[in-house]
Amino acid sequence: MRLVRFGEKGKEKPGLEKYGRIVDLKKQFQDIPDIGREFFEQGWVDKLRDCKDAGETMDVRLGPPITNPSKIICLGKNYAEHAKEGGMSVPSAPLLFCKTPNTVNGPTDPVLMPAHSGQVDWEVELAVVIGKKGKRISRKNALDHVAGLMILNDVSGREAQFGDKQWFRGKSFDTFAPMGPALVTLDEVEDINNIKLEALVNGEVMQQGNTSDLIFDIPTIIEYISQDITLEAGDVISTGTPSGVGIFRDPPIVLNAGDTVICRIKGIGELENVFVAE
Ligand code: MG
Repeated sequence: MRLVRFGEKGKEKPGLEKYGRIVDLKKQFQDIPDIGREFFEQGWVDKLRDCKDAGETMDVRLGPPITNPSKIICLGKNYAEHAKEGGMSVPSAPLLFCKTPNTVNGPTDPVLMPAHSGQVDWEVELAVVIGKKGKRISRKNALDHVAGLMILNDVSGREAQFGDKQWFRGKSFDTFAPMGPALVTLDEVEDINNIKLEALVNGEVMQQGNTSDLIFDIPTIIEYISQDITLEAGDVISTGTPSGVGIFRDPPIVLNAGDTVICRIKGIGELENVFVAE
């Protein structure tokens, strides 16, 4: 299944995307909550599996496929080539940081360039959405806790990230996490350890990677995080970016107002966001 949220910003409705058509789930199920913690806790992913509605053709904005995650946990340096391009060693355990919920942004919405901090960069990533709460989840059971996958652009303000000596501000500027275009359930994915991802800036390919090169795979990441942090339904885990970000290029490339970044993952779709001065 491909779960989407569609409609005007702030008024999105839950939907199912089927071959380019959208099923308006509110029409069928009046009590369905928006796609977030409650939605997963009430078992809507399973309830919707039998939905036979073919949907309708709609010319409509897609929003981020989930609302109000309690956490967006990100992995740093989780592809060896990316660690290497930054002159960094490969971590011996997953390196975690957070993006705050004000970063949540839609798959085609503008990304706001911060007015007071520069060197804005792109990072295409495969993100996991948790569907079932858990603590001390074993590697073996980890995928039972996953609702699905989506793309996340871990937009990064490098001036703040490196200048501040820690990553909070540079990773959490408003709109810095475009996500979507759909939340794709695992049954639609052939092999989570072999998913191609790429990023293009103004049409030029900048990143190309494959989840087969993840240093820590998804079950390992979930086991590690949940040792002492409860994962709630609706939480997002972004698994890290492959090599080819702008800042470590020679010469470095940073985004300017008017640039378009496309993040594409096979089987999931693409994000296309224009960067705009606020
Ligand atoms: Mg990242």
